Amino acid sequence: MIKTKKQGLLIVLSGPSGSGKNTICDEVKKNNLNIWKSISMTSRSPRDGEIDGKDYYFVSSKEFEEKIKEDKFLEYAEFAGNYYGTPRENIQKHLDNGEDVILVIEIQGALQIKKKLPQALFVFLLPPSMAELKRRLTDRKTESKSKIMERFETAYKEINELSKYNYVIINDKVNDAVMKLEAIIKAERCRVDRIEEVFLDSPEEKIHEILIDKNLENKPVDVNNI
Ligand code: 5GP
Repeated sequence: MIKTKKQGLLIVLSGPSGSGKNTICDEVKKNNLNIWKSISMTSRSPRDGEIDGKDYYFVSSKEFEEKIKEDKFLEYAEFAGNYYGTPRENIQKHLDNGEDVILVIEIQGALQIKKKLPQALFVFLLPPSMAELKRRLTDRKTESKSKIMERFETAYKEINELSKYNYVIINDKVNDAVMKLEAIIKAERCRVDRIEEVFLDSPEEKIHEILIDKNLENKPVDVNNI
């Protein structure tokens, strides 16, 4: 019998604006009850149909800056003229409950997390082409022309950081991308360094000493002490 680590995985999903991160994440969540998606805080105004507390916690720049001072964010960044950040609150609780926690965030924030918690899982979502990315950004009609261009130009810089991630998925067909993200998460859950104990036929034959400390890098995530 194998006993695996109780703590869930911390998954960071990044990719340029318009690459489809939220669509893929929401589909994966539908099929996997044990995944909790963190709700970010932003100083951006809500778009039509966006709900406070569901899509984001919408706050003013001043409120956001207060929270920075109070060290309320696991990471935060400025993107396209607005603040975005991951509230620390709740993340540890969900991880310790054995749930996987997924953060859908841009690259600067992801790299902050990588510095503090390199044992997290970093996945990068790419559009099938830059022309397709531009089409998606334009078709969703959520930004002005100049904001679309700003996001599009930022996408090139973001893609330059691809090598800092563990996995890359090209989001050509949603179903394929969803299957790939699910496969990556399943594979991560099977990693040897997530095994806590191994019993052969009886607890006396416990060989966990061999496994424990095998990978000291894979320490439990503690978001409150970084
Ligand atoms: P949007 O304005 O399109 O909702 O988001 C702009 C970018 O900010 C997207 O790439 C989105 O993934 C990212 N983002 C959303 N929440 C966070 C967050 O908490 N932290 C960081 N660093 N980026 C975020």
